[in-house]
This record gives sequence, C-alpha cells and structure tokens, in this order.
Amino acid sequence: MGDDPRRGIPRTDDVLASPAVSTALRTYDVSSVRRLVTDTLTRARSGELAPEDVLAAVEQALAARSASPTTLRPLLNATGVVLHTNLGRAPLSAAAVQAVTSAAGYVDVEYDVATGVRASRGRGTLAALREAVPDAGDALVVNNGAAALMLATMVLAQGRDLVVSRGEMVEIGDGFRLPDLIASTGVRLREVGTTNRTTVADYAAAIGPETGAILKVHPSNFRITGFTAEVGVADLAGLGVPVIMDIGSGLLRPDPSLPEEPDATTQLRAGATLVTCSGDKLLAGPQAGLVLGDAGTVRRVRCHPMQRALRVDKITLAALEATLRGPVPPATRYRQADIERLRARAEALAAVLAEPPAAVPAEPPARLGGDVAVVPSAGAVGGGSAPDQPLPGWAVAVPEQLAAPLRRAGVIARVERGRCLLDLRCIPEAEDDRLAAIVAAVAGEAR
Ligand SMILES: *Cc1c(COP(=O)(O)O)cnc(C)c1O
Repeated sequence: MGDDPRRGIPRTDDVLASPAVSTALRTYDVSSVRRLVTDTLTRARSGELAPEDVLAAVEQALAARSASPTTLRPLLNATGVVLHTNLGRAPLSAAAVQAVTSAAGYVDVEYDVATGVRASRGRGTLAALREAVPDAGDALVVNNGAAALMLATMVLAQGRDLVVSRGEMVEIGDGFRLPDLIASTGVRLREVGTTNRTTVADYAAAIGPETGAILKVHPSNFRITGFTAEVGVADLAGLGVPVIMDIGSGLLRPDPSLPEEPDATTQLRAGATLVTCSGDKLLAGPQAGLVLGDAGTVRRVRCHPMQRALRVDKITLAALEATLRGPVPPATRYRQADIERLRARAEALAAVLAEPPAAVPAEPPARLGGDVAVVPSAGAVGGGSAPDQPLPGWAVAVPEQLAAPLRRAGVIARVERGRCLLDLRCIPEAEDDRLAAIVAAVAGEAR
C-alpha cells in the first residue's frame, strides 16, 4: 500500500487553490472549472495520468479553453470549391466580420435612439436589400433559403394547392427534398408536366379555385438537357395566380459571369410575386434566407406566426448589411480569380516546397523535389450553385499521403487520381506563406 501511486495525487482543494485555477475561478463559471479539475483528478485516480502531471494537465486545459473558446476550427480551403457546404459556404468579408463585432454587444437592432422607443427590427439591412433590388417592394430576412421558401409557400398556399413542375421537384443536398419541406407545411403539392417537359398548358390546366400559387424552383445543382421545355416566370405570371420563384443562389442582379443563374431583379420584373433565395451562396454573405417582392405579400409573410420562429439575430443582420454595402466579398473574388495569378501563386508555392529557402520554418526542412508539380485544376462554385460553370485554375500537386496530415494541420486539399491537390483559389493571398510553411512542416514530418 505504501507505494500506491495514487497517494501522490493532489487534493482537490490544493488544485483549486493553485494560481492558474484561482484565476480561472474568477473569470469562468465556477462549476465548469470545478468539473475540469475533478475530471482531471479522476483520470489520475484511474492511472491514466501520472499524479505529478495533474496540475500541468489542468493548466493546459484552462489555457486551451482561453486560447480557443469554440471547437469550430478555422481552416484553409485548398479544395478550389468556393461555396464548400461542409466548410461553412461563403467566408465573411472583412467588412462583415467588423459588422459582426460591432453588433456583438448591445445594439439598436430594434430600438430608435432618437425617440427612445422600439423601432422596426433590422431596418438598415432591409433598406440595403431594397436598394440592391429596387424592383422589390419590400424584403424580409429569415434563417435560410429553406425557411424563406417555407414561409412564402405557407402564406400563399397553406391549405390550398401549390402548382409545381415535375422537373423542379428537387433535392438540394444531404437528403433535403423541397417537396417534403413544402408538404410538411400543410400546402398541397399539385405536380404538373413531366421530368423533362412542362408547358404553360400544363400549368393552366391545373389552376382552379383551390390554387394558392405557382412555385417555380431553379434546379440549382443539376441540369436537364436534350428534349426539354420549361415555362418562365413571365408566362406563369400571366395565368392570374401569384408566382413564387425560388432562385436558390441569391444573385440579386444579372451577372454576366454566371449566365445560367437566375437573379432576383429579372424574376421580379418578369412578374414573380415573391422571390426567395439564400444569403450564403452566390450572394456570398452569412447564412440567411431572403424573401423579396410585392410589398403587401411580404407584409403578410412578416406577419405569419412562423416568421417569429425563423427570424435572424442581430449578428446575421449586421453581416448581411455589410455584405450588401461593403466591398466585393471573398467568395465572389475567389470565383472570379484571375487564372494567370492563380498559376503564378501555384508556381511560387511549388518552388518553395521543392527547395525551401532557409526562411521556411520546416523542421527538418522538407524538400519535396520531384514530388511536387503545378497542374491544371478544375475548381467549382459549389454550394449547389452553377454546376456547369467551369472554374479552371491551377493547383500544386503533392503526394497523396500528405492529405490526412494536412487536414489535421488545418489545410483541406482535394485528392484526385492519387495526388493531393492544393488549389489556391480560395486561399487569401496573404496566407500563401503560411500555407507553404504548413505544407513544408507536414512533408518534413512525413519523411
Ligand atoms: C440552396 C437552395 C435552397 C435552400 O437554401 P438554404 O439557404 O440552404 O436553406 C432552396 N432552394 C434552392 C433552389 C436552393 O438552391
């Protein structure tokens, strides 16, 4: 018994009285600090941790907590996919980040400082949206594109028919199917036409006293080609019932670099009653859903009880306004990146990796030599947007075995045909040196 290693385990009170823990007890929730201490002591009692390491383990855990308050980990996106759904879609612009910081404390999100009374929520953001889309009589911001669509269909067609083409019964991703969402709201789906062809006559034949609205959905993530027919909003608007157009990606005005993508302005001009879309796809802002259109109808959407459950917080309102009013956001710049510039950056990275200068802190210095090459790389818009839009660029190819250690080091690359491709399209240029240092270090460890 005399040499039971557990005898050396410090007493709880002694650990709590240590300088690091007493500091933490003044800053953090007491019970969470105590839990951290007791969990560490439990590990020591089970033999998992040496008694003399208890204090260091507690200090390390406290330091990690103050260094990174969230488990969400910033990553370098070297996949070449701009709106990578698993990596959080659009990265916020510096302006949006600044706006988020400003909005973090108390703000006048719903308050008029001049009169000292309640004011309409998010009015600055909504004004920015109306300025961006003057053809919209009014606008509303909710949690995401799915919420915007859900509210629009509920307001116009709850308990009634919603007429949709069979060519537009889409699954957006991750098993999320629009028809299921709509059916769950008590709207009756009335399918018309066929997968590849739907005509005005198909819609006209389905419209009757039970019709609440026509829904048109942009099939964002796929294309039907060949013997096809679909009906545009202008023709649908002539049928005498409200038309909801879900454009998906959130392009507010026509963009010549995205010829296949519908935009809110054009659809409203064509006669759409409401346009719905996402905030974090091609609009390149925070996760949000927009409802734009006829002022009276948008007011009805705003007054729907479910709107209260789907509204956004001040953080989203701030980031969205900054995206709308601020400089071109990162996702748009990445999408439009100059191909020659991408090639020059890839060549510079490859040169450093093949023969790193002494300045690159790789230990031991990694020379990938013949294992590194600059190769053409097909990037993508991603996020279910513009699936046919090629984004040709250049990547640095390194051995495939580096992909996993790179991920652990915070760099997400693309593995293709036995190689690990580092596409610089979605890497801020200011991060190129850091990327080089990480790859060199990972390659050095892999030797
Ligand atoms: C992406 C998309 C949605 C859903 O938008 P979220 O913001 O992801 O909820 C709905 N409709 C279409 C056509 C889309 O492309």
